Amino acid sequence: MTMYVWDYLPEYEKERDDLLEAVDKVFSSGRLILGESVRGFEREFADYHGVAHCTGVDNGTNAVKLGLEALGVGPGDEVITVSNTAAPTVVAIVGAGATPVFVDVREEDFLMDTDQVAEAITPRTKAIVPVHLYGQCVDMAPLRELADRHGLVILEDCAQAHGARHHGWLAGTMGHAAAFSFYPTKVLGAYGDGGAVITSDDEVDADLRRLRYYGMEDVYYVVRSPGHNSRLDEVQAEILRRKLRRLDQYIAGRRAVARRYEEGLGDLADQGLLLPTVNPGNTHVYYVYVVRHPRRDDIIEALKRYDISLNISYPWPVHTMSGFSHLGYKEGMLPVTERLAKEIFSLPMYPSLSRERQDKVISAVREVLRTL
Ligand SMILES: *Cc1c(COP(=O)(O)O)cnc(C)c1O
Repeated sequence: MTMYVWDYLPEYEKERDDLLEAVDKVFSSGRLILGESVRGFEREFADYHGVAHCTGVDNGTNAVKLGLEALGVGPGDEVITVSNTAAPTVVAIVGAGATPVFVDVREEDFLMDTDQVAEAITPRTKAIVPVHLYGQCVDMAPLRELADRHGLVILEDCAQAHGARHHGWLAGTMGHAAAFSFYPTKVLGAYGDGGAVITSDDEVDADLRRLRYYGMEDVYYVVRSPGHNSRLDEVQAEILRRKLRRLDQYIAGRRAVARRYEEGLGDLADQGLLLPTVNPGNTHVYYVYVVRHPRRDDIIEALKRYDISLNISYPWPVHTMSGFSHLGYKEGMLPVTERLAKEIFSLPMYPSLSRERQDKVISAVREVLRTL
């Protein structure tokens, strides 16, 4: 049987009773939209982060989009972010009517180069969207300083970083608001789509609640300004409540898998294989385990003979995609991002990845590198 980078079925086997009970609870509750489970999850997810508010939405892309809109970002505004991210980060910025401005990432950790952010600020800059890529936080101190100095808002894209820590702070608690995705592969994943925005700003949260609900006031059924239909589904919310109680366990499982890769593959740097680096003060949650090798394509091809099918996150830099050509970026403008896209690939990573499967990956990678 082919092994993939992600597989939820071992987890489902373990948690099946609890998850089916969650579905039954909602189906039997008499309320299928914005009921007790969404409210409960919102309270518990806010409490997990120690923030005042959480608004559940339908997916991570809309969490970024509505988050920006609630922070007052719209047409004419520039939003500084990275091209080295999942395309939805950028789709959401464009969806909010704003103009994405890309900075490059650092060669060592693939994260936003905060020095370049300072240079990218113009009179039209309104927001910064740092992406805590792969499960590790961006350096937030320089961004907060820039935001204070220039009157900008920070929306953290935490779609890959549930429970990640940065000098003790949880991802999502270091900006003005933070967007999460609960797409099934994520560190906290639903059994379908889901997302959330957290903030400690009462007004931003009130706006989020209107924006996800056609733009209506909850109570008065009046649209003051048209919003969206972006509600978190009640069934997914109840599943997420139960999985949130296990989030720290999932993270520990991912970190154990990462440790084993380090033990099994950490000595191959002289053969060109670079493993993820973790910056001081960061707790990495390993949404994906991204490694780097100049002959990435040959390695992926060779591993297919071992029935191992690997992924690339991400093979095409967003700024070179035709859908964003109107932004005026060309190949060559973000050299680190472009180089990484050609050399990175992901090894299987999920908390219930068995030792046997992981050992199979380690020995196959070693063998492939030896015969490359
Ligand atoms: C997954 C992801 C998103 C989008 O989340 P969806 O729930 O799939 O809409 C946004 N940003 C990043 C960095 C992601 O990884």
